[in-house]
Amino acid sequence: MSTRELDRSADAVAFERARDRFAGRLAGAAAGERVRLAKRTSNLFRFRSPHHGVEIDAAPFSRVLMVDPDSRVADVGGMTTYEDLVDATLKHGLMPLVVPQLKTITLGGAVAGVGIESSSFRHGMPHESVIEAEVVTGSGEVVVASPDGPNADLYYGLPNSYGTLGYALRLRIELVPVRPFVKLRHARFDSAVALVEAVSEIVEEGSADFLDGVAFSPDEMYLTTGEMVDRAPYTSDYTGSAIYYRSIPQRNEDFLSIHDYIWRWDTDWFWVSRTFGAQNPLVRSMWPRRWRRSDVYGRLVALDAKYGLSPKIDRVRGRGPSEKVIQDVEIPLERTAEFLDFLDRQTGQRPVWLCPFRQRRPDASWPLFPLDPSKMYVNVGFWGTARLPAGAHDGFHNRAIEQKVASLGGAKSLYSTSFYDPETFWELYGGDSYRDLKERYDPDGRLLDLYDKAVRAR
Ligand SMILES: Cc1cc2nc3c(=O)[nH]c(=O)nc-3n(C[C@H](O)[C@H](O)[C@H](O)COP(=O)(O)OP(=O)(O)OC[C@H]3O[C@@H](n4cnc5c(N)ncnc54)[C@H](O)[C@@H]3O)c2cc1C
Repeated sequence: MSTRELDRSADAVAFERARDRFAGRLAGAAAGERVRLAKRTSNLFRFRSPHHGVEIDAAPFSRVLMVDPDSRVADVGGMTTYEDLVDATLKHGLMPLVVPQLKTITLGGAVAGVGIESSSFRHGMPHESVIEAEVVTGSGEVVVASPDGPNADLYYGLPNSYGTLGYALRLRIELVPVRPFVKLRHARFDSAVALVEAVSEIVEEGSADFLDGVAFSPDEMYLTTGEMVDRAPYTSDYTGSAIYYRSIPQRNEDFLSIHDYIWRWDTDWFWVSRTFGAQNPLVRSMWPRRWRRSDVYGRLVALDAKYGLSPKIDRVRGRGPSEKVIQDVEIPLERTAEFLDFLDRQTGQRPVWLCPFRQRRPDASWPLFPLDPSKMYVNVGFWGTARLPAGAHDGFHNRAIEQKVASLGGAKSLYSTSFYDPETFWELYGGDSYRDLKERYDPDGRLLDLYDKAVRAR
């Protein structure tokens, strides 16, 4: 089914009008004039240079257009947050196959970037449950990209294109049924090698609905499995004084409502809220509940970056310079122990998030984010700072990580800082395919080039 067959509801008509205005603004931009989305929230961690080109309002594409509980599909505006999307689907006892942890990540952002969560060991990444995407390309043309249609190259090229080929304004996605509660089991491991073995066993065994983990230190690591259930003897609440990640070492078993399970990491942005004192009981009691959200902490991080506060505080405290090391990397399961050992020695960052995943469709290839479809990977997430040794500059740790990830046959997400030279970058991220896609969908270069956006932070 294409948009033309959508219900001719007021929503669909309003969507089409807004889409045509959006396409008109893109087509009307002078060749070479830069175009950018105007959007209230972002989960990018590359702070960009000021923009002087055309800005196009994303607001009209921030709504769920339709949920069909019978066929278990939804039509969703590309800039709809997962928070709104989950609210709309849970009403029907359904959820998207993969819901990234942070409430203001949008469907389009998770598809054009590369999203992941604890259902990814079953369902792969968010782009793998997209049935079709209605895209306004860099040339201002409206196309429907699907796996077998005339724009199949764009369908497969969207993931990791970060809005440099076009903007997905409507996506049709698959949904899965949920049960009201999730039973969590936390299992401790005293080494990464033991944890990796357990991941293989859990995946092989196949009864878990969700799987992720946390490495608190090299000899204290946990895997959490989640099983959807109809009844729960109790439910925990980690939106108040209790903090989810701290509960992991404290209990073997836990129950959450499906809603609270999906958003378990958002309240404290994993553990990042401690940077702002929000885990101190006194500060926490005064911190309004509605501000215990990843986007609020995200805004604080952006303010810190804008005014360069952290380096000033470090200087006042007599501490040497540090580097922001905020990354998610994909490591083949069998090399994960080696990577964790390297990361701990390189940056000493703790805790570290672990999320096993594999490509859902073994026959598909996503040229801008190439992975081996036969392999299981672990997404390793680490978000903080690392001290710089004397004489070292920004990029010292991040470059070492980039090299290690490549040497282990892994891949790095591009939402944060990157330091690759152009040759290495294009070799890793499908340069030949990208050039063809750019030529076909953005021949006048109205949208930025992926290297400029991801590495030069333009
Ligand atoms: C600290 C941190 C931790 C993270 N952890 C996770 C995680 O655990 N799991 C996970 O899944 N992700 C994680 N992310 C990454 C996040 O999913 C990506 O950054 C994602 O691209 C953000 O999407 P957004 O909706 O906020 O979009 P934005 O930040 O607004 O945009 C991201 C990029 O996508 C482009 N874009 C946005 N909408 C569209 C569209 N409709 N069509 C085409 N291009 C579009 C934009 O131009 C931009 O280049 C993390 C990010 C940070 C900063």
